[in-house]
Amino acid sequence: MTLFVDILVCILIWFVGTALFSFMNVIRYRYIEKKKIFNEDFTCDSCGTELKPLEAFPVFSYLFLKGKCRYCGEKLSLYDFVNELIGGFVLVFVFLRFGDGCGISSGFILSEPIDSIVHFNLENFAYVVTAILFVCLLDLVVMVDHKTMEIPNIFVISTLVVSVLSLITMRDVGIIEHLIGALVISVPMFVITLIVKGGFGGGDVKLSFAAGLMLGWKLAIVGFFIGLLLGGLYAIIKLSTKKIDKKAHFAFGPYLCIGYMMALICGANMLWGYLKLAAILHG
Ligand SMILES: [Zn+2]
Repeated sequence: MTLFVDILVCILIWFVGTALFSFMNVIRYRYIEKKKIFNEDFTCDSCGTELKPLEAFPVFSYLFLKGKCRYCGEKLSLYDFVNELIGGFVLVFVFLRFGDGCGISSGFILSEPIDSIVHFNLENFAYVVTAILFVCLLDLVVMVDHKTMEIPNIFVISTLVVSVLSLITMRDVGIIEHLIGALVISVPMFVITLIVKGGFGGGDVKLSFAAGLMLGWKLAIVGFFIGLLLGGLYAIIKLSTKKIDKKAHFAFGPYLCIGYMMALICGANMLWGYLKLAAILHG
């Protein structure tokens, strides 16, 4: 019985996640097109026809409309669709991880998300909300940086505000660990930027400061290495298919953000697994 209810709750959370990331799609679109960000009308990006609620429903409108606008026939964005789909899973993971108030430094707890909703606890709630705001902002940065090759200051500042909030809500990570987290990646990146022209973008450095403050130094390092790995993998694939030449720049920010997002959700487990593996290898 509980398992059944848990699955139902997870599905519900999944829907909320798709709606949240769908909203991030809207903010991204309006930001890049320099339109008013908070505006309750949902319109087709291509013909401007106002959409009915069902036609703007995350994930499912794309499936029902078979990827095309009902009015002008223009293809709907596959990019937005994928982002909504991922958003659902990200939120479920965030809930399973932090729903019962268990923190960044603990393991991954797959236990009864319903508990966290039934036994409402302000502290847990604040913890989850901080984590959700963090992943939403990072998602926004992933998309905007990917499209425009820059990380706008307004998003960095918003991330910093959430990170400062995390000093209060995520108390399982000590304040010193939080503060070192802000510097552990951003300072070396800044130094590299000074030495190697075009090493990292200024936005990447600032974002690493803000995200590191939230994650604490251990997870900031984990997140940075995930980002480096993903970015490197992308570059290798692009180079081997000769889609870019060696001198071409590509935005590192999206990979960095995905790294920090993954570090928040499963970085502690990765770290634990890595240390355990190292211990086994060393006998
Ligand atoms: Zn249309």
